[in-house]
Amino acid sequence: MLNPNRDFTILLVDDREENLLALEEMLADENRVFIKATSGNQALRHALRNDNIGLIMLDVQMPEMDGFEVARLLKTNQKTKHISIVFVTAINKEEHYMLKGFDEGAVDYLQKPLDINVTKAKVKVFQHLYQYQQELKYTAIELRRINQQLEKFAYIIAHDMKSPLTGIIGALSLLEMDEDGELSAEECKEYISHSKEAALYLANMINALLDYSRKSLADQTVEEVNVQDMVQEIVHNLFLPPHVTFKITTPLPILWTKKLKLQQVFQNLISNAAKYNHKPDATIELGCQEKGDLYEFYVRDNGPGIPFQDHENIFKFFRTSINMATSESSTGVGLSILKLLVEEQGGKIWVDSDPSLGSVFYFEWKK
Ligand code: ADP
Repeated sequence: MLNPNRDFTILLVDDREENLLALEEMLADENRVFIKATSGNQALRHALRNDNIGLIMLDVQMPEMDGFEVARLLKTNQKTKHISIVFVTAINKEEHYMLKGFDEGAVDYLQKPLDINVTKAKVKVFQHLYQYQQELKYTAIELRRINQQLEKFAYIIAHDMKSPLTGIIGALSLLEMDEDGELSAEECKEYISHSKEAALYLANMINALLDYSRKSLADQTVEEVNVQDMVQEIVHNLFLPPHVTFKITTPLPILWTKKLKLQQVFQNLISNAAKYNHKPDATIELGCQEKGDLYEFYVRDNGPGIPFQDHENIFKFFRTSINMATSESSTGVGLSILKLLVEEQGGKIWVDSDPSLGSVFYFEWKK
C-alpha cells in the first residue's frame, strides 16, 4: 500500500553558497530534507530528477538564468508545474511587476534581507500545504483501489448468486405451470425441497458476505503482534476436535502489523485444516521462514488434499473443491477473503497439495 511521504524536501536555489548555507540553517527541522543548487540550470535538473520536492526557494537575481526564468520553465513542465515556489527577492519595482505573472498556483515571495520569523512561518505553511496535497493524492489512489475491488466483488457476487436463483425460479415455474395437477406429489415435493435447498445456500452466502464486510470494516490499526501467542489463542478458541493434533514447528516472529487481518488468515487456514480432515490421526503443523522483507508462513495438514485442477479455483469466491470432505455448508468464501487480505499486505497465498498426503497452504506477510 502506498503511504504519503512524511519528508518535506526543499530545493534551495542561490548563486551564493553562503546564502544557501544560511537558509538551510534557518529552516532546518525534523522531517525536512534540503537540496542545494547554485544556478538556474542546476535547479531545473534537480526539479526534473527528484519527484519529492515540496518547495523551491528561488533567488531572483542570479547570473545566466534569473529566478523568474527558472520559475517560468518549471511552470511549463508537466512534471514540475505543481511545485510551490517562494521567490527570494529585493523586490524592486521591476520585480514587483514580474511577480504578477505568477499569480496562479502556489507562488509567493520573501523580501531580502530575510526576516527569520516570517521566513520560517511561510515555509511552515507551504509544508502543511504539501502534506495535505500528499494525503489527498494518497486518499484518491486508495479510493480508486477500493472502488476497483468493490466492482470486482459486486461482479463475482452477482454472477454466483444467479445460479441458485435460476434453479429456484425454474423449480417454481414448473410447479406453477402444472395447472392440471399432472405432477406427482413426490415430484412436487422434490421441486419444493430443491428450491428450499437453493434458498438456504443463498442465505449461507449472504451470511458469509455480511461476516466479511463486518470484519473488513473493523479495527485497522497497526500494532505489535506476537504471532506465537496469537496462534495459540486462535487454536484455543477454535476448540479443535480431539482427533486433531496441532503443532507449531518453527519459532514464530513478532510483527508490527494489522492484527485482525493476520488473525483472520490464520484462523481460516487452521479451521479449514481441521474442518476438512476426518482422519482419526489428523495433524496440523504451522511454521514459517524468512524471505527477504517477508515471512512465508505455512499451515500443513494430512487431510484429503485438493486435486491439482482446483488449486487456483479455491481462492475464487464461492468455489469449493470436489473432495470427499467438502460438506454442503461450505460456501467457498473463506479462502477468497484470505486472498484479498494477503494481497492487500503485498503478499501471495497459494496451496501445494498431494491428495494422498494432505495440503500445505502458504502465505506471505510483510515484516
Ligand atoms: P469455506 O469458507 O466454505 O470453508 P474456503 O474458501 O475456505 O471455503 O475453501 C474452499 C474449498 O477449498 C473448500 O470447500 C474445500 O473444498 C477446499 N479446502 C480448503 N481448505 C482445505 C483443506 N485444508 N483441505 C482440503 N480441502 C480444503
